[in-house]
Amino acid sequence: ERLVGAVADGEDQAVEAALRPKDLGEFIGQEKVREQLDLVLRAARARGATADHVLLSGAPGLGKTTLSMIIAAEMEAPIRITSGPAIQHAGDLAAILSSLQEGEVLFLDEIHRMSRPAEEMLYMAMEDFRVDVVVGKGPGATAIPLELPPFTLVGATTRAGLLPPPLRDRFGFTAHMEFYGPAELERVIHRSAGLLDVEIDPTGAAEIAGRSRGTPRIANRLLRRVRDYAQVKADGLITQEIAEAALAVYEVDARGLDRLDRGVLEALLKLFGGGPVGLSTLAVAVGEERETVEEVAEPFLVREGLLARTPRGRVATPAAWAHLGLTPPRSQSS
Ligand code: ADP
Repeated sequence: ERLVGAVADGEDQAVEAALRPKDLGEFIGQEKVREQLDLVLRAARARGATADHVLLSGAPGLGKTTLSMIIAAEMEAPIRITSGPAIQHAGDLAAILSSLQEGEVLFLDEIHRMSRPAEEMLYMAMEDFRVDVVVGKGPGATAIPLELPPFTLVGATTRAGLLPPPLRDRFGFTAHMEFYGPAELERVIHRSAGLLDVEIDPTGAAEIAGRSRGTPRIANRLLRRVRDYAQVKADGLITQEIAEAALAVYEVDARGLDRLDRGVLEALLKLFGGGPVGLSTLAVAVGEERETVEEVAEPFLVREGLLARTPRGRVATPAAWAHLGLTPPRSQSS
């Protein structure tokens, strides 16, 4: 488990329930999404109708589950939470759909990872609030139509582009969640610190925010680790100095890079003069699997403008040299 990983670990799951904003007003940042969603929900409430299906796209840890719970709360509706990988057979989905109450919110995380037959059943359910349940096998099989109460599907995916267009088109409202800026992350951290009864000053919050990779989940996790340090090594108050010292212990640097990220960058700079170098060669040099380098380390390095993927291989940017405090070879700096 990486301290700067965006996917929830066991501890996150245990504490996140307490940290989740409960309504749109409490939800920090994502101004456009909030404003649009507010209109969608108000209008549905005014009509006394069930809200349109909502598609949320964005990286893990940006608040998709939280928003789905807020949608349910704002509609005063119950919510059922499941995920694409959990629905392997159309029958699994039929069982869930047929047990929904009127107006219920169904949150389907990683909706792009549903099986094909389940996906096709979902099309009809979303559009006509109806499913065909197939009973029996072979020539004797019959499809029994089943009416469903109106419900609101909230689908979440890392990228809306991964969804087949017929599925994407059935959502009335699509929102793309962006990474959070430093000021927003500071607000997330102050809010969480208040809920966790942790003392933190503005410089401490700013320091943690800068290392949180634009992701509230990571900000909350770093806050907990820094809190531990502040309790054990100091008087409990989180200042910039304490945050720096704590995160040095965990090897999360000033920009939120961890050991793996720095290892990749260092190999690229020190062994290959900044590249270009092929992914496989780079992976061997770091002592990691190709997939780990490509899928775990690189996306953030690319997003931070430290590494570029080019047809000739991986290349470090001038910012990478600066970040590691190294001087690029003359041919590159001229
Ligand atoms: P996702 O479903 O996109 O992976 P979650 O909704 O589970 O993300 O959010 C992860 C954690 O980050 C939650 O504990 C939540 O409290 C916090 N969080 C996410 N977005 C916000 C936000 N806009 N304001 C405050 N906290 C947030």
